[in-house]
Amino acid sequence: MSVQPTYLLYASCVPVSGAKRKIICDLQRNGYVPIPDGLYEILTRHRGKSHKDIKAAYENKYDQIIDDYFKMLVQHEFAFACTDPNLFPELSLDWKAPFPVFNAILDRDNNSAYDLRSAVSQLSGINCKYLQLRFFDPIDGAALTELLQYFETIRSATIGLEVLVPAAPGFTSTDARKLLSTFDRLNKITLHGSPGEFSIEEVRNKRFLISMPTSVDSEAHCGIIDPELFSINIKAFTEAKKFNSCLNGKISVDRKGFIRNCPSMQEDFGHLDDTSLAEASSHPDFRARWQMTKDEVNVCRDCEFRYICTDCRAYTQDNEADGKPLKCGYDPYTGEWASTAPSNRLRTRVRAQKTASSSPA
Ligand code: SF4
Repeated sequence: MSVQPTYLLYASCVPVSGAKRKIICDLQRNGYVPIPDGLYEILTRHRGKSHKDIKAAYENKYDQIIDDYFKMLVQHEFAFACTDPNLFPELSLDWKAPFPVFNAILDRDNNSAYDLRSAVSQLSGINCKYLQLRFFDPIDGAALTELLQYFETIRSATIGLEVLVPAAPGFTSTDARKLLSTFDRLNKITLHGSPGEFSIEEVRNKRFLISMPTSVDSEAHCGIIDPELFSINIKAFTEAKKFNSCLNGKISVDRKGFIRNCPSMQEDFGHLDDTSLAEASSHPDFRARWQMTKDEVNVCRDCEFRYICTDCRAYTQDNEADGKPLKCGYDPYTGEWASTAPSNRLRTRVRAQKTASSSPA
C-alpha cells in the first residue's frame, strides 16, 4: 500500500491571517505573498494531514483546486511533500536576547548640552549592541571623527553604529565615505537633506552611505509605517510575536538629554545629568513599554502584516496607548493602502527583500 504524501510549508514560511487578507510570510527569503482564504484554512486547520485526507475533509468537492494549490506552493518553494510530518515541527517562536537593552538612539542638535561621550560609554557598559546617532543640525566632520575615535578606545559591546547627519559643506559625501572606510563599527551614514535623488551606496563590505532628500530636523520624523520598512525575517517576526516591535530593548536620549523609550515618547525617565541609562532602563514603567505586541494594538491586531510591520507607540490614533500608529495608511478591513505615499518616507534601512513574484492564488 503506498503512503499518501503530506504537503508541509517550510518552517520559515508562516501563514498569517488578517481581517480581509491572508499572507504567507517567507522569513528566509524576506518576503510575503497573499494567499486565498481557502488555502489559509488548508494550511492551518488541516496542517499535517495527508493530501488525500485534506481532499476528503472537503468531501472531494475541491480536489482540483487543492491539487493546484499544492502544485503552486511546491513550484515556488513554499512547501514540500513528505511521508512523516512529525519529523518537521513548526518554527519555534522563542525569542531571547543576551542583554535587556540592545538598541539605542541618541539625538543631538546645536543646543544639546548633555555629555555625548558619557552616554556612549554608559551604553557600552550595559552591553547595548546597536546605536543610532541622529544629528539634526549640521556638524563638523572633525568633531564626528573625534567621537568615532573615542568610540574605538572604549571597551564597547556595540557592533553596529549608524549616524544620521545633514548634508552640508562641513560634512559631505566624501567625508562620509572616508569615515565608513576607516571605522569598522560604523555600518551606515545617512546624509539627510541631500541634493538629488534617494540613493544607497555600498562603500565597502556592508558599510553603506545613504543619501536622501528629506531633512530629518527633529524626532517627529519617526513612526512612518511603510511596506518598504517591513522586517521580514525570523528574528523580527519572533520578536514581534512576544514584544513591541519598536520599543523592545530600546533606550533613547532626546536632544535635551532626557531619557525616554524613544525620543518621541511623552514620558521621560530622568535626565542624563542625574540619572544613569542603567537606572532608567531598569524602571518597571520603562520596561512595560517593551511588552505591548501588535496583537494588543487596535486595528493592528486584525492586520496580516502585524508581525513584520514596524510599530510606533509615540504617534498613535487618538493618542491612545493601544492606538494604531498614526502614520500608517493601511486599512486591514479593506486590504488597501491610502493612495498617497508617506510624504516623508525614511528609507534608512537597506533591505534585500526578495518578495516572491507570484501568489499561489
Ligand atoms: S495596520 Fe498596524 S500592523 Fe497593519 S500595516 Fe498598519 S501599523 Fe502595521
